[in-house]
Amino acid sequence: MAKKEPTPFDNFCSQIDKVTRFIDPDDRKYLDLLKQPQRIYQFALPLVMDDGSLKIFTGYRVQHNDIRGPTKGGIRFHPGVTLDEVKALSAWMSMKTAVLNLPYGGAKGGVTVNTKKLSRRELEKLSRRYASAIAKFIGPEVDIPAPDMYTNPQIMAWMTDTYSMMAGKTVHAAFTGKPLEFGGSHGRETATARGLFLCTTAACEKLDISIAGSKCAIQGYGNAGYYCASMMSEAGASITAVSDSGGAICNESGLDPKRVLEHKKSNPAGSVAGFPGSRSITNDDLLELDVDILIPAALENVITGKNAGRIRASVISEAANGPVTPDADEILHSADTVVIPDILANAGGVAVSYYEWVQNRNGDHWTAEYIDEKLQRWMHAAFEAVWDLRTEYKVDMRTAADILAVRRIVDAYRARGVWP
Ligand code: NAD
Repeated sequence: MAKKEPTPFDNFCSQIDKVTRFIDPDDRKYLDLLKQPQRIYQFALPLVMDDGSLKIFTGYRVQHNDIRGPTKGGIRFHPGVTLDEVKALSAWMSMKTAVLNLPYGGAKGGVTVNTKKLSRRELEKLSRRYASAIAKFIGPEVDIPAPDMYTNPQIMAWMTDTYSMMAGKTVHAAFTGKPLEFGGSHGRETATARGLFLCTTAACEKLDISIAGSKCAIQGYGNAGYYCASMMSEAGASITAVSDSGGAICNESGLDPKRVLEHKKSNPAGSVAGFPGSRSITNDDLLELDVDILIPAALENVITGKNAGRIRASVISEAANGPVTPDADEILHSADTVVIPDILANAGGVAVSYYEWVQNRNGDHWTAEYIDEKLQRWMHAAFEAVWDLRTEYKVDMRTAADILAVRRIVDAYRARGVWP
């Protein structure tokens, strides 16, 4: 019988197993708690379509762990959403908020839906239906959702509006990633890429790689992928290839990120594919290009034991959550490829979400400069803490980040006295 491929949540559990030996033996009892989310909600979401027919979608919200504070994590609208995937993404949020030392736990939500097949009216109705389903279980001091793949500030505004109508008052702090004109924060749109850029720059400095003149390939050209391309290009990197669900494009002399985005927007297929002057490759080819820096910014499990040996980049910066599997990690580590793990590399998004939540709760509004300066300091502190553990234990950066996160979570269990 063929061996079952590990699921994203299996991968998360393997990551926890890997760091057990770095945790004080008295504290290891807490680790099993991380392998089981605290709360799982599943919803049937009925939607009357524009043609009058009724469709039922499945939605999830998983609150993985709240020992360090209210749970926090995005909402994904994607046809591939499964309960297992949402569990894994929620667990990585618990780890990510711990690495950044935010006063949060981790959660994630999702709806199994292809938004490209919905009209704007249907998308709004589904968003509001999902918000009303989760409303009882979330809140500014309980669980605070945000955008993820195929959700955006507009969807957060609809959801916050629905939540507020049910609460009988405007509750800005119930969701983050909202538009600026409705309780959003400066810097949120670019935050994930900004954090990734800061980590990538810091790693390259340590490894003596110059970003200026380096070659970079990016898989996924949405919020995370586009701004990563733009920031890397501004710093002098050449963007060799980019991709989205419609295909991948390559130009060894470098692509102009802004022009590629304009092409994607005006392309009836909504894809980067067919960009003038580029050649078409596959999403798999993109990962194996001869580049210095590779940024997976789409889905999980794209670099596996099967293709890891063919990766030529020196640095992989994970904008996506869970793009590299544990067996691929082993192969990459032995080839001296540095992987900046998701729970550090893409944590800029949740950091600025936290700033948005603080502003909302205080009725405050911070400047873009203040937020960027704060983000730089926080990302720097997290990066250095992970790098120090990497050096101390001679492990890969993911293991170092996992050690840091698990120790902070365990510290909270001990401090709260959950276990006699
Ligand atoms: P998005 O919806 O804005 O963009 C997703 C992009 O991925 C699109 O360009 C889409 O076409 C592409 N894509 C989808 N399937 C693909 C495939 N099979 N092959 C190649 N490309 C494909 O989403 P986003 O917010 O940019 O999120 C991307 C990743 O970054 C996700 O893993 C998400 O969890 C992670 N992330 C995002 C944020 C954030 O703040 N946006 C924060 C942390 C992590």
